Amino acid sequence: RRQRCGPGPRTEPGALVRSCSVPQFPCPEGGLWAPAPSWAGRDQPQFGSWPVGSPGSATPAAGVPRTAGTAQPPAMEATTSLLDAAAVGDLVMLDPLTEESLLRTLQERFSREEIYTYIGEVVISVNPYKPLPIYTPEKVEEYHNCNFFAVKPHIYAIADDAYCSLRDRDRDQCILITGESGAGKTEASKLVMSYVAAVSSKGEEVDKVKEQLLQSNPVLEAFGNAKTIRNDNSSRFGKYMDVEFDFKGDPLGGVISNYLLEKSRIVRHVKGERNFHIFYQLLAGGSAQLLQQLKLRPDCSHYSYLNHEKSVLPGMDDAANFRAMQDAMAIIGFTPAEVTALLEVTAVVLKLGNVKLSSCFQASGMEASSIAEPRELQEISQLIGLDPNTLEQALCSRTVKVRDESVLTALSVSQGYYGRDALAKNIYSRLFDWLVNRINTSIQVKPGMQRKVMGVLDIYGFEIFQDNGFEQFIINYCNEKLQQIFILMTLKEEQEEYVREGIQWTPVEFFDNTIICDLIENSKVGILAMLDEECLRPGTVNEDTFITKLNQIFASHKRYESKETLNAKHVTDVSLPLRCFRIHHYAGKVTYNVTGFIEKNNDLLFRDLSQAMWAARHTLLRSLFPEGDPQRPSLKLPPTTGSQFKASVATLMKNLYSKNPNYIRCIKPNDTKTAMRFTPDLVLAQVRYLGLMENVRVRRAGYAFRQLYQPFLNRYKMLSRKTWPHWMGSDREGTEVLLAELKFPPEELAYGHTKIFIRSPRTLFDLEKRRQL
Ligand code: ATP
Ligand code: MG
Repeated sequence: RRQRCGPGPRTEPGALVRSCSVPQFPCPEGGLWAPAPSWAGRDQPQFGSWPVGSPGSATPAAGVPRTAGTAQPPAMEATTSLLDAAAVGDLVMLDPLTEESLLRTLQERFSREEIYTYIGEVVISVNPYKPLPIYTPEKVEEYHNCNFFAVKPHIYAIADDAYCSLRDRDRDQCILITGESGAGKTEASKLVMSYVAAVSSKGEEVDKVKEQLLQSNPVLEAFGNAKTIRNDNSSRFGKYMDVEFDFKGDPLGGVISNYLLEKSRIVRHVKGERNFHIFYQLLAGGSAQLLQQLKLRPDCSHYSYLNHEKSVLPGMDDAANFRAMQDAMAIIGFTPAEVTALLEVTAVVLKLGNVKLSSCFQASGMEASSIAEPRELQEISQLIGLDPNTLEQALCSRTVKVRDESVLTALSVSQGYYGRDALAKNIYSRLFDWLVNRINTSIQVKPGMQRKVMGVLDIYGFEIFQDNGFEQFIINYCNEKLQQIFILMTLKEEQEEYVREGIQWTPVEFFDNTIICDLIENSKVGILAMLDEECLRPGTVNEDTFITKLNQIFASHKRYESKETLNAKHVTDVSLPLRCFRIHHYAGKVTYNVTGFIEKNNDLLFRDLSQAMWAARHTLLRSLFPEGDPQRPSLKLPPTTGSQFKASVATLMKNLYSKNPNYIRCIKPNDTKTAMRFTPDLVLAQVRYLGLMENVRVRRAGYAFRQLYQPFLNRYKMLSRKTWPHWMGSDREGTEVLLAELKFPPEELAYGHTKIFIRSPRTLFDLEKRRQL
């Protein structure tokens, strides 16, 4: 692990110690430490006598280690400015720690285009919304193998540290990137990936692997991203990518997992947004011949699933992106036939939206539906190799089992549209899964090879909207789990270090969100389990019984509130939906509108439709609907969306837990995508959602500072006549003598086997002050 100067996960025993290349601040692991304001940190000096960005003075060239005593101790201003929040590159050392000081620090730094700030191991990244010259090859060089503390906080520093730790110490890493939509998660994940690609070794084979890994982005973005009000390139799915390396640290390949694609976007999106990029790209960039082959018109307004007003976006060249996507597929290894099949299925989804139904009446007087205009249906049938009558029948009727007999029942027009939309959503989301699997096939590493792994998680952040539905519930559950694992991992590492050092672990007060996770995921009485129960109940199911049950069971749950409780409390900040409940998440209170929970959780497709898809001759399409095979009738219902998500989150957590975590918390500074604009209220809300204050507290859990005895004594021995100028005993005894004389409260200090532990930053500041008197 890297040599840290602040609190947080510690260096494993036997770890290499890199010397710090900046003058004389104590570095807990035996080196030196960055200058004052960046105390915990690795910030470039930004105060008084240390000129900003002056490499010759405060920040020697990367990789040029200095030894103790080669520079002057920080001047008095340094200590004073320690208390100047604006200069703190690591918020763990913020004193006093308040929301206000934290916010001010971020704002001050942002105004100086310092978009990165640390909380111990965590990087906070504030989206500048403009290109900054900090990702150049020279910067890569600067951060690669540099001294962590000699350079400004940067995503490259974390990427480098994670990579070196993986390569040199065989420690699998994971990089967890969270933040709200538009905060910069996907950009951050790409920066990490490209950094690793840049610093790992070159060669024909390894370059090919790197290219394939990097090129998975444009493909997945084309199919999984869309323009939303909050972000022109919003990822509408969660992504976790394990990049695998050989023993030398060269990338071998990887595995991508995707989570919960927002498939409802296929059939509906709000004004000002778009459907997934691929549709616009295909229509704008596909050659006349290709479009003809796919039976498409180069005109978005022709397709009812596409938003007609906003099909073209300023600054986004759909045609060029389509070509880039095609190139990317070729690099990954898609065959031309695969690309064609993929685009055919994409075209089918688009065309399904144009299948119009009209109402008719059967002899019995029952309402039925029929295809209003056969052309689109015929073209779809041709594309997928299916008899148009079969498709029409599947869209307009459904088979119902009455006793042992199958009876064909007509669907009303609204039922027909419901089925059509469900089919389009299902085809697309399964196609997306296929796409991920196909990429995985290309990038997978041969079995049996020994590998080291770096996982990169780019997943939706906590969401609180005016109207929060099933998706927000699932997303916030995922964030609750990520918070839980963050706490567990941080405290686990703390605890392990204390055990190593023989220091008694006193439980630290922090908010443990297990109670909320349990409320949602408990397999018997969790909200998800109860929702599943409701979905499986025979007969007419609706959300009334579901919410009634929740209200009964969680009547006295500390983190759950029913609508009645909210009404009784006169909560008027939101107009409460008809059926709702509220959860007190770690990041805030969210009221969930229960309408749609059952349908979205069930996510059922009429069997007739899946059978029709399976009957198609189109190999790719039929492979997406294995349950449509009549020879393999399955009485088991497919798992619900909630239970699938819960299972994949559990796998993800297990995976993350086995790795060394690195966090990137992204913040969106304004709602208008404006360059360098910082809206404090908006950032404060995110500081809360992201639990940054909690982050700092957990990072400070127990002792904020620790350092090996020898450098500590060396630095402060001048404060006691007994230890100055030469202490003849052991370093530990010297430290004890020194600190006893300075009369710090005993609870502030703990003596480990090799290190001194100091509880609060203030004590350290005090020491520094005395040193400079
Ligand atoms: P979503 O959850 O909607 O997918 P996100 O957090 O992944 O959002 P990004 O797509 O990564 O957000 O970023 C949104 C936009 O912000 C980018 O398209 C880019 O214009 C800008 N941006 C993000 N990070 C940076 C950066 N480091 N430098 C410059 N611009 C950035
Ligand atoms: Mg994204």
